[in-house]
Amino acid sequence: MATVPVPSAPTRTRSIADRQDVVLEVKGLKTHFFLQQGIVRAVENVDFTVMRGQTVGIVGESGCGKSVMARSVMSIVPSPGRIVEGEILFHRMREANGSTTKDVIDMAALDPKGPEARAIRGDEISMVFQEPMTSLSPVHTIGNQIMEAILLHQEVDKVGARRIAINMLERVGMPYPERTIDRYPYQLSGGMRQRAMIAMALSCQPSILIADEPTTALDVTTQAQILSLMKELQDELGMAIIFITHDLGVIAQMADFVVVMYLGEVVEMADVETLFYDPKHPYTRSLLRSIPLLGRKSALDITSKLTAIRGTVPDPYSIPKGCPFHPRCRNAIKGVCDERIPPFLELEGGHKVRCVLYE
Ligand code: SF4
Repeated sequence: MATVPVPSAPTRTRSIADRQDVVLEVKGLKTHFFLQQGIVRAVENVDFTVMRGQTVGIVGESGCGKSVMARSVMSIVPSPGRIVEGEILFHRMREANGSTTKDVIDMAALDPKGPEARAIRGDEISMVFQEPMTSLSPVHTIGNQIMEAILLHQEVDKVGARRIAINMLERVGMPYPERTIDRYPYQLSGGMRQRAMIAMALSCQPSILIADEPTTALDVTTQAQILSLMKELQDELGMAIIFITHDLGVIAQMADFVVVMYLGEVVEMADVETLFYDPKHPYTRSLLRSIPLLGRKSALDITSKLTAIRGTVPDPYSIPKGCPFHPRCRNAIKGVCDERIPPFLELEGGHKVRCVLYE
């Protein structure tokens, strides 16, 4: 089991307070799947904000709605799912004639297959997936796939697109980019394929990069290389990153702000130091108790044994009444938590928690 390096509060300088410029606002987002067996409320009333240049980590167990939420932002929710309510406001900056203008586009209101959504997707908002083999076409060279994205969104010819693609492959640390560009995905290792995906996602210099478990399928060394590469490119290009993972070690390393999801809902959000040093929601506390932590004291008592979260994630067709976490919660109050939907409470400094214990 990997040990989690807990962020050190005094040395981390990036925080939500440093960033004033909003790039994405998700408000009251609901994405449901309409299946024969019933409706799966994969994302339910999700709200969060991303600042320009910030990394927001989305964390939770499998099936908590993280990936559907990411696909909602990209307008690529697979059928039979769809966004049924809410707004996804992308604050777009444009430079023309020496001045910068800003407009706000509601991605949730756009036709997912329409020209506006397609123009933004892959250009201003890009995504890197967990397993590049399923996202890269096996019958086209990686160069052709990167060039396709460049030709679609930038005013360059094929020669220019190839030059940009080679340059991107070089920047993501691909060995021999002038030769590798003509390779097919099956000719590359897992780490090289993920680098090719990142090169493709960054080739148009997006404002937001969504990374959905981008390093889960990689060995620890390659994972560390890819994470440090993403941070480097973020500093260089100034993009925001929405980092989706179930791995709290990756969150500690990458995120400025963390959103914890359970059964489609946000149950807690806070800056990374607060989340690791002063977690409030029993689910967040259970997640942290279930992993080994390096270099931290108290809050979750590292002297005690590691404990797994009891029970399993409930069936998505029959979400428990009241607080959805109550069947697994050690602090559940009988007659309250199994009856009443807990409010989403604002504590301080942007720290929010959905739990009756803090009313
Ligand atoms: Fe636990 Fe009740 Fe809080 Fe839900 S509302 S997390 S069941 S204490």
